[in-house]
Amino acid sequence: MLDSDTTQVLNRGEFFRCLDECVAQQQDGQAQLGLLLIDINRFNRINAIFGFNVGDELLQNVRQRLLSLKRKKDIVAQIGNDEFALLIPGIKGESHALLAVNKIINTMCSEVQLNDSPIAVDVAIGVSLYPQLAVNGEALLQGASTALREAKSGGFTHRVFSEQDTTPVLDWDVESELDNAIRDRGFEIHFQPKVNIKTRLPYGAEALMRWNHPQHGSVPVDKFIAVAERTGQIMPMTDWLINSAMRQACEWPTCFGEQTVSINLSPRVLHEPDLAEYIESAVNIWGIDARRLIFEVTESGIMANPEQIFEMLVRVQALGAGISIDDFGTGYSSLAYFKMLPANELKIDKAFITNITNSPQDQSLVSAVIALSKGFGLGVVAEGVEDYDSLKLLEQMKCDLIQGFYFSRPLTNVGYQQWLDSYQPENYWR
Ligand code: C2E
Ligand code: CA
Ligand code: CA
Repeated sequence: MLDSDTTQVLNRGEFFRCLDECVAQQQDGQAQLGLLLIDINRFNRINAIFGFNVGDELLQNVRQRLLSLKRKKDIVAQIGNDEFALLIPGIKGESHALLAVNKIINTMCSEVQLNDSPIAVDVAIGVSLYPQLAVNGEALLQGASTALREAKSGGFTHRVFSEQDTTPVLDWDVESELDNAIRDRGFEIHFQPKVNIKTRLPYGAEALMRWNHPQHGSVPVDKFIAVAERTGQIMPMTDWLINSAMRQACEWPTCFGEQTVSINLSPRVLHEPDLAEYIESAVNIWGIDARRLIFEVTESGIMANPEQIFEMLVRVQALGAGISIDDFGTGYSSLAYFKMLPANELKIDKAFITNITNSPQDQSLVSAVIALSKGFGLGVVAEGVEDYDSLKLLEQMKCDLIQGFYFSRPLTNVGYQQWLDSYQPENYWR
């Protein structure tokens, strides 16, 4: 057995041996073995621009930074030219793997001074877990590489492997089919309700895009959004989304008061300098009260260009609309930035909610986020609530709003209106 307390960076061969040994040792039913594959973005360009010496120095620097993060039992390896692995035994699930991801990103994202040139290191990370997401060591490695590929192709900092990823990556020309769908208005919006815990009444819904392709059927949303982000097609799609969501929200019954509608803005859209003006003109066209609108943005989307995006979000807020920080907890904004975030709401990522009833760590994290949002006067939403026990727990923790399959899956516009019409708190609270 390799000494897992090693302070060395293992090579590829050593790593594979170690992986099998760690899998064999992972017998504790509660704990998981986490694998993070870390790839330096645009490393070849750094080599080409600054020369191989600088490239080598950079790799040395990355090795040092990874070793500085390593806990006693963790294993750091360099398994490719610019690809590294961090193997973490004894973690409690996805949310804890994401904490490690955040640490790595935080450690890596500061510039290094190499040969008098400041170089920003930008990494992509793929995550998988044994036994939760993989049956053996090989599958664990496969899963983490699939997740890494997805992260890189979608321009994300990280991705966690999910079973959906085992379906082959779309093998048809998504980009040109997206063009057709944009032209023919081939998308649909589904709405997922949000319920206010205190009043026990509906509060609004999140608009989620759907694409039912005439030949290929329903296309996974994160797959086609990732393509649209890369190609820029996300702009006309968001244009359609904003207008259709506003138009449909004007038809909703008001038996529980005017319902809010939450609209996701993907990172690329946030760079659009005229977005606030654009939203304002849509508000005027549909005559919707802007206070009913909430725009969901992710921390990593904002941090790509904080100054400019902060300013744009403040203009959106000035219209009366709210800003919600989506997937909160999986990003990596520092607390210094957090206090400046132009936000009205934090949305706790479902990775922290899924196991909340049996994970004390997730409970602590969620109460910390709830306390943080109260401290800053923000509303707080838990998404991914699937059962009554989780709802009760979040109620005790004084979370404000709940979204999840427990109340409803995302519904068509008609389905959502029927859900509102027939809503009764007694059906959800025993
Ligand atoms: P998101 O913004 O975090 O959206 C929430 C996702 O969680 C939705 O998946 C929703 O169906 C799912 N979900 C809700 N409740 C539960 C639950 O109780 N359990 C579980 N397991 N899942 C739940 P969906 O619709 O597949 O969307 C996935 C992601 O795709 C979204 O994550 C969002 O990032 C993106 N997306 C969806 N629609 C749009 C859109 O119109 N524009 C943009 N830019 N992104 C979108
Ligand atoms: Ca969202
Ligand atoms: Ca989310």
